[in-house]
Amino acid sequence: MDRDPVIKVDRLVKHYQGVQAVRDISFEVFPGEIFGLLGPNGAGKTTTLEIIETLRGKTSGKVHVAGFDTDRNPGEIKKLIGVQLQSAGYYPNLTLVELIRLFSGLYNVDTDANAMLRKVGLEDKERARYKQLSGGQKQRFSIATTLINRPVVVFLDEPTTGLDPQARVNLWGLIRGIREQGTTVVLTTHYMEEAEHLCDRVAIIEKGAVIAIDSPDKLIDNLVATGFERKKEMKKASLEDVFLSLTGHKWRDE
Ligand code: ATP
Repeated sequence: MDRDPVIKVDRLVKHYQGVQAVRDISFEVFPGEIFGLLGPNGAGKTTTLEIIETLRGKTSGKVHVAGFDTDRNPGEIKKLIGVQLQSAGYYPNLTLVELIRLFSGLYNVDTDANAMLRKVGLEDKERARYKQLSGGQKQRFSIATTLINRPVVVFLDEPTTGLDPQARVNLWGLIRGIREQGTTVVLTTHYMEEAEHLCDRVAIIEKGAVIAIDSPDKLIDNLVATGFERKKEMKKASLEDVFLSLTGHKWRDE
């Protein structure tokens, strides 16, 4: 890549008392990428993400975001990034429009709340309260809140965990749309197919270390080039197809 990376993580290490959560992680993310940290539970993805977001300290290593050092300029970095909050961070009784106005006030920016809801496909929910949303809608809303300060990078920690397959595919479309508007996306996932379909490049994390990093296509092609073959033929249909054929409609979002 010929452009400067928007994120540079260099030999990152994080120890908690007795736990080496991150042993040695280095990677770069370039502007306009959807970059995935892919790994099983406990691999160190959230820890890595929160260190980049300046929300957590590190043991050693260097992290830069948009040229700023997380040790020296955490305040500058916070202004440039969008971080998806866990749902507990929202007031359940405020409407979506009220919540977006509240966040806009905190960020001190003017936001057209209805346009923001339209962007994430929640235009008909403007008067709904957060607690009345489905799981997929809650995720969409929390992604909308990451966009309020017009960030250069958004961080999404397991954005589709717990969603049904159709809601997951819908959210992938939303995340691609964010990238198309010029925002870099960094996400964590433990879903292989999510990384394969959504991410331009992935870092595969295992026990606190990067074991592979490339585009999903390249990683798969490299494996195939070694003579690898799947043990079992893929079936011609999936359980989703069975559901579709039984009901005549797709797995629903809500
Ligand atoms: P998940 O997909 O389950 O969120 P993860 O890949 O995001 O997993 P982390 O949450 O970064 O993994 O955790 C990495 C390791 O660090 C785990 O063994 C976890 O138990 C440990 N860990 C995380 N936070 C703390 C903490 N505050 N104190 C002690 N150990 C922690």
